[in-house]
Amino acid sequence: MAMTTLPLSTPRPRRISILGSTGSVGSNTVDLLRRDPGAFEVEALTARSNVELLAQQARELHPRMAVIADESLYGALKEALTGTNVAVAAGAAALEEAAALDSDLVMAAIVGAAGLKPTLAAVARGATVALANKECLVCAGDVMMREVARSGAVLLPVDSEHSAIFQVFDFDNVEAIERIILTASGGPFLDLDLALMKDVTPEQAVAHPNWDMGAKISVDSATMMNKGLEVIEASYLFPVPEDRIEVLIHPQSVVHSLVGYADGSVLAQLGTPDMRTPIAYALAWPRRQGSPAARLDLARVGQLTFLPLDSRRFPALGLARQALKSGGAAPTVLNAANEVAVQGFLNREIGFLDIIRVVSEALDRTPRASVATVEDVIAVDRAARALAGEQVVKFRGRR
Ligand code: NAD
Ligand code: MG
Repeated sequence: MAMTTLPLSTPRPRRISILGSTGSVGSNTVDLLRRDPGAFEVEALTARSNVELLAQQARELHPRMAVIADESLYGALKEALTGTNVAVAAGAAALEEAAALDSDLVMAAIVGAAGLKPTLAAVARGATVALANKECLVCAGDVMMREVARSGAVLLPVDSEHSAIFQVFDFDNVEAIERIILTASGGPFLDLDLALMKDVTPEQAVAHPNWDMGAKISVDSATMMNKGLEVIEASYLFPVPEDRIEVLIHPQSVVHSLVGYADGSVLAQLGTPDMRTPIAYALAWPRRQGSPAARLDLARVGQLTFLPLDSRRFPALGLARQALKSGGAAPTVLNAANEVAVQGFLNREIGFLDIIRVVSEALDRTPRASVATVEDVIAVDRAARALAGEQVVKFRGRR
């Protein structure tokens, strides 16, 4: 079947900034812009350290500003963009400056709590934010949502499950919504015995069966902590309490998530697993634009399967639910410890099963605290990283 890209129907170019333009979501976003050059003007592009790709994107998309987070790379980026009109900047403050530029849409696609301050800077100016960076909502959900309410910012979910729910969630009939059901592919170890999980390698963990994503989220998918983070993310994006956010394993990643209504109806959004569909949805919202994602051919797919999550082999979802119910500092600790543990696993310092041990220990050892401000979040995040770092050293010693 021919894959046609429909012309964008927005009336004038939308001005967009992409935070984390060199990553997986960032590159998919750039790909969509490239296919429809008249539809967008780019205000800012940012990256952590990939000067080469950032410069290449900037030469192609002509943003007003390009920012590299790693300050030691300022000179390299400046040189790579010689002869262009692109303003070059580096460092944490410049990331926030890029996010605060007056664009129509900010794609928040930095990975981890590192994206919190830039994303908050976009929220604070009342921007429309396409939110890929789920860790922001996990580590600072209350702070973020309070700022959204104050500034009038609009959050458009980019995570495929949340985009699916957003597309079928009747915000005018919230009282008729009984539950939301997040689907999960199950990741590469869905059928693996617990005994064998101990020795899986980073390469095996990042080889996701359906999605091509950054390393961190790929490991999160393998432990299924990703689904835990997504339950927390959903609890902030949609007015549905934790006990009515269900998780369902669906290995084909065709049904991206579902919403159940009081009359028994269950509405779902379907598509092939290609992030360019939820990204295109956020880019064009409240309209629709084309995407080159392969079209869903259900006759070829043949069968869709669904099964419950095995919490014995995948305890991460339970930990995340517990953190959400505890509230206060717990989700911030969960996120920070998980980031440190995943990095420890990717560095081959700890084993795959140690990831959840590190997170669990960090949660147990952190005193209950409330997080009222972004400074509180950052302090809790820092303390949890230190604690998790100690655990990584301890587990490393045992290997
Ligand atoms: P990635 O690792 O591929 O890219 C991350 C981007 O963030 C890169 O541009 C990198 O330069 C930038 N970055 C990383 N650390 C930074 C720092 N300290 N300061 C400034 N910039 C930094 O990640 P990804 O897979 O694109 O995921 C991005 C976010 O989107 C994550 O929160 C992830 O959970 C979420 N998400 C991703 C996918 C996917 O398909 N990849 C799907 C759903 C949700
Ligand atoms: Mg997802």
